[in-house]
Amino acid sequence: MTQSHGVRIEQFGGPQAMRYGPIEVREPGEGELAVAVAAAGVNFIDTYQRSGLYPLELPATLGMEGAGTVSAVGAGVSEFAVGDAVAWLDVQGSYARDVVVPAARAVPVPPGLDPRTAAAAMLQGVTAQYLTTDTFAVSAGQTVLVHAAAGGVGLLLVQLCVAAGARVIGTAGSPDKADLARGAGAHEVILYREEDVVAGVERLAGRRAVDVVYDGVGQATFAADLEVLRPRGMLVSFGNASGPVEPVAPLRLATSGSLFLTRPMLGHYVAKTDELRTRSAAVLGMVERRHLDIRIGAVHPLDQVVTAHEALEQRRTTGKVILTS
Ligand code: NDP
Repeated sequence: MTQSHGVRIEQFGGPQAMRYGPIEVREPGEGELAVAVAAAGVNFIDTYQRSGLYPLELPATLGMEGAGTVSAVGAGVSEFAVGDAVAWLDVQGSYARDVVVPAARAVPVPPGLDPRTAAAAMLQGVTAQYLTTDTFAVSAGQTVLVHAAAGGVGLLLVQLCVAAGARVIGTAGSPDKADLARGAGAHEVILYREEDVVAGVERLAGRRAVDVVYDGVGQATFAADLEVLRPRGMLVSFGNASGPVEPVAPLRLATSGSLFLTRPMLGHYVAKTDELRTRSAAVLGMVERRHLDIRIGAVHPLDQVVTAHEALEQRRTTGKVILTS
């Protein structure tokens, strides 16, 4: 065991359930890497795990994503060596100074990328990548609605949809956030705390004119999504920032225009190492070539994690939130 520091929960609860302090991290086993974490990414899923919406075995060290430097390699690892820069997106325990990462879940960080940017690009970047290419292949001339367009995933979705030639309508919780979404390329932004989403989309694009809705907000926006999609359009419900969506009867999809509804999860799009590496390389490559802008909205030291979660849940963040060791 190695003595380290990290963010633990002993029971599910609000941000105050998290404690930063000493933790023990085991040595890397066969096929694993020990990594000194330089930057850990904060994701909305971390709040679901902390609250128990997505239960973890307790006690647990939080955090799924990060970037850092390999400090030791376990038996049988040949593709990475001590000193290599790596990043990852689905390794529990990343809110820590040290973490054990399976070599098969690590991706090399291109030399031009700093660890904060690499960590910030991974989970939300790969999510935006698979949502816009495989869940629904966005193409030129389509109209796309992106909720929470100034958020971590939102700003990346906007950029990828615009790059694909689509017309992008975003939603945002404040005028400042709307400016950020427009800066990322959104053609129009609805301030959905002030204007009804259905009325806003009709005003901007017409009745039932949206080809695909990307909705990570969940409960608060789901009903409107069904009203703005064109016949046979697709509702991609990929998150629950405002709470989980209530059950929906299949017949509702029929009467709303033979709609498609999917509830994708990142894990099913990166289950195989090849797929993880291909998607990550695509995202990190776009970032390196400056085709994808990663906006880091806040950086906190690990011991300020409570502040970071409070801000995220109270809709006070934009882009990516990073924790540093
Ligand atoms: P964000 O940075 O987008 O933060 C969430 C945003 O949601 C807020 O900033 C806020 O923006 C908006 N929001 C609307 N209503 C609420 C509410 N009641 N409480 C809190 N926020 C609200 O987070 P992420 O980019 O990390 O994640 C976005 C969504 O994507 C989450 O639901 C997350 O679980 C999901 N996700 C899903 C993945 C998958 O594979 N299925 C993978 C990664 C993320 P505003 O103020 O503009 O309304």
